[in-house]
Amino acid sequence: MSERESSAGKFDAVIVGAGFAGMYMLHKLRGCGLSVTVLEAGSDVGGTWYWNRYPGARCDVPSIEYSYSFSKELQQDWNWTEVMAAQPEILKYANHVADRFDLRRDIRFETRVTSAHYDEENKRWNIETENGDRLNARFCIMATGCLSVPNTPKIEGADNFKGPVYHTGRWPHEGVDFSDVTVGIIGTGSSGIQAIPVIAEQAKHLTVFQRTPNYTMPAHNRPLSKEFIEKAKAEYDEIRETERQSQAGIIGFGFGFGGADLRMPEGSILETTEDEREKLLDEKGFAAVRQFADIAIDMNANELACEMYRKQVSRIVKDPAVAEGLMPRGYPIGCKRPVIDTDYYETFNRDNVTLVDLRRGGIKQITETGIQTEQGHFEFDALVYATGFDAMTGALLRIDVRGRGGVPLKDHWEAGPRTYLGLQMHGFPNLFSITGPGSPSVLSNMIVSIEQHVDWITDCITHMNEHQFREIEATEEAETRWIEHVNKVANGTMLTAPSCNSWYLGANIPGKPRIFMPYVGGVGNYRHKCDEVAANGYEGFSLTA
Ligand code: FAD
Ligand code: NAP
Repeated sequence: MSERESSAGKFDAVIVGAGFAGMYMLHKLRGCGLSVTVLEAGSDVGGTWYWNRYPGARCDVPSIEYSYSFSKELQQDWNWTEVMAAQPEILKYANHVADRFDLRRDIRFETRVTSAHYDEENKRWNIETENGDRLNARFCIMATGCLSVPNTPKIEGADNFKGPVYHTGRWPHEGVDFSDVTVGIIGTGSSGIQAIPVIAEQAKHLTVFQRTPNYTMPAHNRPLSKEFIEKAKAEYDEIRETERQSQAGIIGFGFGFGGADLRMPEGSILETTEDEREKLLDEKGFAAVRQFADIAIDMNANELACEMYRKQVSRIVKDPAVAEGLMPRGYPIGCKRPVIDTDYYETFNRDNVTLVDLRRGGIKQITETGIQTEQGHFEFDALVYATGFDAMTGALLRIDVRGRGGVPLKDHWEAGPRTYLGLQMHGFPNLFSITGPGSPSVLSNMIVSIEQHVDWITDCITHMNEHQFREIEATEEAETRWIEHVNKVANGTMLTAPSCNSWYLGANIPGKPRIFMPYVGGVGNYRHKCDEVAANGYEGFSLTA
């Protein structure tokens, strides 16, 4: 590709999104000598960590592991300060990576992609942006994120509210001062559970509107010692290799999962007595709930663990009615993404926090001054939506993507997302998605999964260039077989229990097809499958000269 072609908007590859996926993809493809540009809607790098600046935002995977492994020098130079870093530190890390690898010169910020159409004759993608830019590329790589489109539920009267309104996924860059302000927050998923204790400390009063109580485990976050960091750096090669072969891309190095001192679940809760379970709670608190292996596969075992969980809630929350309101019931532990918190239940012992358990009477409408529920009217000055995302498919379906024959992606995915390995779709040649549905993605430490996809896509493009292939496309048969496999491994797990309504299933968005989107088979197994596919000449893909 000549300099002139690239300045005229012609590239070997266009990448959409400059989060951790887009940044690494740019670095890799540039390293292969390709002309590449990244288009990013935000005004800087970082993706999730650029947008989600709400109070209390932090990762739930130890930062030693939730970080890039591709550069040993980067790994050795960067020092994390806490077990699970807060959003400002993670964003600083993303900026450091952008500076260190000089990424910004190939990123166009404040550039939202609106369409990507495949030109079959020339075997290239035509990409258009909201600003009117037109780009043409051989490869279009979607690094648009699984949790990048905030969901604001349509609640009657929402526009009438007179005070300021925020969404955790679009938090103002200058921050929000809640001192002397009364706040209402809707949502008790990971974002709400992280934000509630921090907002409660500042606000005059906080009213929490909770539709479904969550199962959440204490983070046990703490500063990292110099000795610990040195040990991790010395063992990084082994840590990274173990992550790559693991189930979820996490080994809990030095801490156990989520920073808690947890061992791998084992044994049967069904074989314990009530006294034994009580004693375990005395010794370990919430960590005791997750220590048995059968809670992942047996509903009765799971219900016993849920009972233990509820008992532990009642031990922390002083007002029995509030404790009862916070207790999850009717769906299993493990059906949703595990939530990790700091002082969540303790927050409900504060005088300035009110729980509105919407199971006792739901929201009727938002008014000028608060929320009218079936239980009464609750007033506040500022409203926070912690109501999640149109996950996994939201960002891609907001772009008018059209493949062979002008077929829109939204038609191809009408009954739910269909992909081969989460990497490609039949009918959409030379288009890749990073951590797309059908890959371990959101069930894993996502940086491990991002790196695996980026490396695989880079190798694939290199292979095509070496063998003069112009087009790669997942076959219909491979896509169908893969989707059947994705569904088969998810069925029978807690993740697809009929009582489970998670965003993994699309259940948080009205009208979205109920399909389990990520791949449960595990990061290690999945990596082997992808490597095998490549080693067998990209089995399941058709390559054309
Ligand atoms: P993103 O970071 O979402 O980046 C995608 C980018 O694409 C965004 O910047 C977006 O603006 C841009 N984009 C989207 N559509 C367009 C378009 N049409 N045109 C132009 N640009 C577009 N994962 C973990 O493994 N561990 C954690 O602890 C963890 N914590 C999280 C905490 C929060 C609050 C959230 C919301 C998610 C968390 N995740 C976590 C998941 C997180 O999304 C991933 O870990 C990772 O940051 C995703 O990187 P990405 O580059 O794939 O996507
Ligand atoms: P979420 O898990 O989807 O939670 C959204 C919350 O809003 C739920 O409590 C939901 O209730 C509620 N809600 C939605 N619509 C509502 C309505 N109309 N009325 C009342 N309540 C409503 O979203 P999230 O908390 O932003 O988390 C999404 C994902 O992002 C996480 O699962 C995780 O992967 C990632 N994340 C990670 C961290 C971290 O700890 N590192 C932090 C934040 C986010 P229902 O349950 O009843 O639908």
